[in-house]
Formats: sequence, C-alpha cells, structure tokens
Amino acid sequence: MPRPEPPKQMQPEIRALYDQLSPEQKSWIEDVHFLAEEIKDHLLLEQCLLAVDILTDRLQKLNPNIGCAQGCSRCCESYALPEVTRAEWELVQVALSDMPETTRARVQAQVSAIPEADFDSQGWPRHPRNAYAQLGCPLLIDGRCSVYAYRPLSCRAMGYFFSKRLPGEKPLPLSGFLQQMMARKKPLPLTCHSEALRIQTEVSQGQNLLLYAFTPLADRFEAIFERLAPAGHKQLLLTRLMAYFKGLESASTAPESLPE
Ligand code: SF4
Ligand code: SF4
Repeated sequence: MPRPEPPKQMQPEIRALYDQLSPEQKSWIEDVHFLAEEIKDHLLLEQCLLAVDILTDRLQKLNPNIGCAQGCSRCCESYALPEVTRAEWELVQVALSDMPETTRARVQAQVSAIPEADFDSQGWPRHPRNAYAQLGCPLLIDGRCSVYAYRPLSCRAMGYFFSKRLPGEKPLPLSGFLQQMMARKKPLPLTCHSEALRIQTEVSQGQNLLLYAFTPLADRFEAIFERLAPAGHKQLLLTRLMAYFKGLESASTAPESLPE
C-alpha cells in the first residue's frame, strides 16, 4: 500500500493550522485522509470496518477529548436504536454464536425484556424515536459491548463522523461548514447530545478546527455498507435480535423427529 499523501487542496486557514502540527499529528491526518479515500465499494465489509477502526483511532489521537474514547457507554444504555444492513447483521450473528453461553443467555434475557408491541411487523418503531429514550442495547453486558469487534458502523462512527448531508447537497468549504456548526445547524457530529454540544462549543471558541476539518461524513460509508447488502434489508439491530432469539426458541421447542 503506498504511503498516504498529505491532503492536497487545503484552504489557507486550514493550511496555516496544519503547518503548526507535529510530524506525528500530521501523519495521523494523512492516515485519515488516505483511509477516507480508500474505503470503497471493492473492499469487503471486514476491510471497511478495519479501515473505519483505524480512521477513528487516528481521529481519537488527534482529539483525545472525544468522550467516546473513555469507556463511555451512555448512548448504548439510553438510546440504542442502531440500524444495520444485512451484511452488518451477519457479523453480529457470528459474534453471538461465538460468545460464551452465559453471556448469550444474558443477552437473550435482555432481548426478551423488550416490549415487542413497540415495533411494527416490519421491525420499525411504532412511536417517535424520543419515546425510546430509555431503551438500552441488549448487547451491552456489564457496561461493555458484547459484540465489540463486530459492532455495526453506526456504533463505530459515534463521536468521530459527522451526520449526513441532504440529498444533492455539496460539501461545504470549511468556513461555511464551521459557520453552520457554530449556528447549530447541520452538519452535526454523529454523537450524543452532550458531546455534540461540547464539540459545538469548541468550534465556536476556535479549538480543534483542524480535527473537524478532516472528520469524515458518515453518509459515504453508509452508502458503501448499503451496497454490500441488498436494498431494503436495513433494519433496527434490536428487532433483528428479537427475531433471532425467537427463532432459536422456536427451534429448541420444536418436537424432535422420531427415529425411523
Ligand atoms: S456518543 Fe456520547 S454517550 Fe455515546 S460513547 Fe460517545 S460520549 Fe459516550
Ligand atoms: S451494538 Fe454494542 S456499541 Fe452498538 S449500541 Fe449495542 S452495545 Fe452499544
């Protein structure tokens, strides 16, 4: 793999900030730039996930203040409605079948406690999302993600990516981007409310602008993940889990066939 090139088309205000960085910080920026360009359709899902992990590692090194890097799991505990493509769900199933029996039993018990009536027959929430604010992810065990190495893109991206552009929108020049952030308009960090407020405060005080200038947009990666699975297969992780354990239950209660 060729050595990453430094980002070429930097706006003058970003170039001035970039030139003040240490060689190590510059190499992290180069990695981010390179990986964001390299994550493409021809990669396998596992390769995309690995690249996203390296990318988030470099972004975290550039800004160690990001809350997600400090063992925080508040979003998993309180508003866990990540959506997964079929390809991502298949990886979660690998993790479920590989985990210790006792952990899987605890996940299953947490899944069973979710009120099924809150979701429609297609597995989507019946109520506005804020009605699910107290719903925790059943894969969280003792404050840790039990499928961590196999967790979906949206869980990996928390705190490190920005939210989607609207269809047809062009990327903003940095000055416009920062102005929108400061005015609390989109694009917003893809993170929890408290972290988003912290980042907006940093931006309004002119801190860590370089990090935000290179933070990737989630929509590009989501589009790649979507193409890895047939259209229409994106679903809530929660309802995938409910169907999965229901299937296991019905399989285990099915009468065994009599010997011939
Ligand atoms: S998004 Fe917020 S709540 Fe979730 S891990 Fe990051 S800092 Fe914690
Ligand atoms: S899959 Fe893991 S990281 Fe994602 S919400 Fe659930 S516990 Fe949190």
